[in-house]
Amino acid sequence: MSLIEGQSGAWEAVIGLEVHAQVTSESKLFSGASTAFGGEPNAQVSLVDAAMPGMLPVINERCVEQAVRTGLGLGAQINLVSVFDRKNYFYPDLPQGYQISQYSQPIVGSGAVEIALEDGTTRTVRIARLHLEQDAGKSLHDRDPRRTWVDLNRAGVALMEIVSEPDMRSPEEAAAFMTRLRAILRYLGTCDGNMEEGSLRADVNVSVRRPGAALGTRCEIKNLNSIRFIREAAAHEARRQVAVIEDGGAVEQETRLFDTGSGTTRPMRSKEEEHDYRYFPDPDLLPLVLDEAFVDGIRATLPELPDAKKRRFVDALGLSEEDAEVLVADRDSAAYFEAVAEGRDAKLAANWVIRDLFGALNRSGLAIADAPVSASDLGALVDLIRAGTISGRIAREVFEAMFETGRDPGSIVAERGLEQVSDTGAIEAIVDAVLAGHPDRVAEYRGGKTRLLGFFVGQAMKASRGKANPKTVNELLRAKLDEGQGRDE
Ligand code: ADP
Ligand code: MG
Repeated sequence: MSLIEGQSGAWEAVIGLEVHAQVTSESKLFSGASTAFGGEPNAQVSLVDAAMPGMLPVINERCVEQAVRTGLGLGAQINLVSVFDRKNYFYPDLPQGYQISQYSQPIVGSGAVEIALEDGTTRTVRIARLHLEQDAGKSLHDRDPRRTWVDLNRAGVALMEIVSEPDMRSPEEAAAFMTRLRAILRYLGTCDGNMEEGSLRADVNVSVRRPGAALGTRCEIKNLNSIRFIREAAAHEARRQVAVIEDGGAVEQETRLFDTGSGTTRPMRSKEEEHDYRYFPDPDLLPLVLDEAFVDGIRATLPELPDAKKRRFVDALGLSEEDAEVLVADRDSAAYFEAVAEGRDAKLAANWVIRDLFGALNRSGLAIADAPVSASDLGALVDLIRAGTISGRIAREVFEAMFETGRDPGSIVAERGLEQVSDTGAIEAIVDAVLAGHPDRVAEYRGGKTRLLGFFVGQAMKASRGKANPKTVNELLRAKLDEGQGRDE
């Protein structure tokens, strides 16, 4: 828990998120129009989306399935009966004059997300509910100096609104929650998680209180489309509220906007009350009734999710919690690692993936999907190390060449003549030369300064240009130096 130091003592931030996740589906929630991103304005609008009189919405089974899949992935209760309501408000880009949403009877009830914190501890953030609703269209203010244009391509696209309980206590926890939720959605394939394209965005609710006191009045910061903005907006808003209270004022419940340029929040509107929306069950839609078999069928196809994968990486493969967390953070990374580790030393594989591959990807700004080194080639490199064909140090050099050229390790090792020398005769010649070249040091060693072994190993490795098998070098040096000596321990 990280507290905020005010002038009058410590304050605690309380944070809850309302996340809007665009459902991965070819067509919209209540129409057959396409959901593809980036189409010509108004090219993907059915008569239902345009709210032509007399048009009737028809629920898209695929979207329902995706919501249930997400609920199961969040370990949440699935409600076999749920109801679609009309949430009434006016927006120029909302032709119906209402949004079809779910209110008192959502499709998914309470669940939980585990987040791993920097200090190695974990924390559970409870999920209050998940419901299905329609997205609105988009008003374009920059196409014409005097008029606003409306693009309805997004109108009617299915969203899942995922609401957390106010369980987060710092901006870092809010960021960790969003990161884990996005990973779960991506593992499930129910939302692509592309925050830049707006497929995933969050409203962040923030209040402050004395540690352990009752909940304070919250403000809601709307529509944040990056994890960094979530962290920055929450941090700024908590500090703002502390300053208001310490100045003798009171926090007013309101909706605020985050200005990404200045990193500050400003008021947008005072929070409307639920009754302002005049929610009522949409008479065009029957209650949504699911049967157990439908839910069980989806449950049977759930993939292994980040938490379970992490446990398996730690318990069955012997990885550290930190390494396991890094690897499961993203589905592609986990899959890549598993392909490298398959049938090999998992810890060695994890090292190469995290330290070398991720390091090189970071430096070159590439995503794992675009890695120039395939998992099978990296696996082959690990095999070469394990078999003693190359040393770990030479392997670094080979890896660099693989990353640059996309070639396989075997051909690079052969072409550059990098095979490790394990032939005892050849190594013995090198060792003898090193000992002959440093008679003083040999005498010191034999006089009891056995720490000098490292020096001799270094010299021998250097003389072999890194190719001598270090184990053989060690053994031979020890044997020769200790020859005729009593061991001194
Ligand atoms: P409402 O029905 O007024 O919208 P909810 O109970 O649905 O309120 O909560 C909306 C969001 O605000 C949830 O994510 C919840 O966790 C969060 N929240 C509620 N109370 C607080 C609070 N005092 N401080 C911070 N977040 C809060
Ligand atoms: Mg609410």
